[in-house]
Amino acid sequence: MGRLVMKFGGTSVANIERIQNVARHVKREVDAGHEVAVVVSAMSGKTNELVAWCTEASPLHDAREYDAVVASGEQVTSGLLAIALQSLGIQARSWQGWQVPILTSDAHASARIVGIDGSEIIKRFSERKEVAVIAGFQGIHAETGRITTLGRGGSDTSAVAIAAALKADRCDIYTDVDGVYTTDPRVVPKARRLDKVSFEEMLELASLGAKVLQVRSVELGMVHNMPIFVRSSFDKPEDIDPHGTPPGTLISSEENSMENHVVTGIAFSKDEAQISVRRIEDKPGVAASIFGPLADANINVDMIVQNVSEDGKTTDLTFTVPASDFARAKQTITSAQDKIGYARFDSETDVAKVSVIGSGMRSHAGVAAQAFAALAARNINIRAITTSEIKFSVLIDAAYTELAVRTLHTLYGLDQV
Ligand code: ADP
Ligand code: ASP
Ligand code: MG
Repeated sequence: MGRLVMKFGGTSVANIERIQNVARHVKREVDAGHEVAVVVSAMSGKTNELVAWCTEASPLHDAREYDAVVASGEQVTSGLLAIALQSLGIQARSWQGWQVPILTSDAHASARIVGIDGSEIIKRFSERKEVAVIAGFQGIHAETGRITTLGRGGSDTSAVAIAAALKADRCDIYTDVDGVYTTDPRVVPKARRLDKVSFEEMLELASLGAKVLQVRSVELGMVHNMPIFVRSSFDKPEDIDPHGTPPGTLISSEENSMENHVVTGIAFSKDEAQISVRRIEDKPGVAASIFGPLADANINVDMIVQNVSEDGKTTDLTFTVPASDFARAKQTITSAQDKIGYARFDSETDVAKVSVIGSGMRSHAGVAAQAFAALAARNINIRAITTSEIKFSVLIDAAYTELAVRTLHTLYGLDQV
């Protein structure tokens, strides 16, 4: 007997029929003798609708009330799944974040989990054989008693945090694809499913745009050494061999020794904006005068390129910020133009970051150089580059994203044969 957390995303609970399908997946694990806590997302499209309603009510709305609204999607699915389980003869009870409780910071709309008390749920496992159905994405800020949410895609994080708190053996993430692929399989049909991925590589994939898991969930998996298994909820529960290994991807601390590739996967993100500050005085302290105020405004700067000055007097500084922070970044820099001392502010919001990830890069030279040549052969211009130990990223025009991803996928031998 083991203890499992099973998380089901939006498409997996999109309607009553899908929720009944989820209930049968849960029953399968209960029948196999496991103690089960389920974490559910809102029905697909629901959170987007709720977010849009907040914006329609007022573009600049109170983040506490936004959380009160958007947390409701998960409340509905947790109750519905508990009902569906009960109708299969399984003891089940729904739990909202505040009822567990899942305690978080007060950073409304992007709160961080600070503690989970799983004692009552564990007690009910043994005393009542009860399945806990927990609303993902939401928590409570203890001091104010207000409902919080964990940021988009946050149910993954709820699931891994709950798995750690309950000391589960594994956290299964059921979604609409049957694992983590070498790149988004909806964009590159030749993408291959990976059997195993290390936490470290998954952290890079997720933070560079592979939205199959929220970044924070991978961080928590790594910190608590909680194995995460990504698998499909679309497999029929009745067809799954309880003793076999289902298709899926195991994310764990193990290095991926089976696959003999230098590159593990490719991620991309169109949520980037490029800013160039032109003809700044080339003297100590200018970078600080730009990036200091951006940091104070809580804006994450990613790629940074500073040109060597031609005349020794002025230089250009180019960097990227998340597209959602672009307006604020522009305001921060242009309002400080006199203090910073620059001639021109240029920007481009139609850009994309394509990133190549693989722990094999540690021991192989020239991996990035191959990419630059392949992109050049396709006439794709590179606007900026960053590298680190196990990944590199290039910034390109957004229109070329798919072409660049496919080109690199083939280049590094990732295509399915
Ligand atoms: P859920 O609603 O179950 O949380 P998401 O839509 O958040 O599902 O995440 C699953 C989606 O992630 C897939 O449908 C796929 O399009 C996308 N995705 C992006 N990159 C990858 C990747 N490398 N492997 C698998 N899926 C990926
Ligand atoms: N429902 C939330 C969202 O759409 C959380 C999640 O699905 O993980 O972002
Ligand atoms: Mg998701």
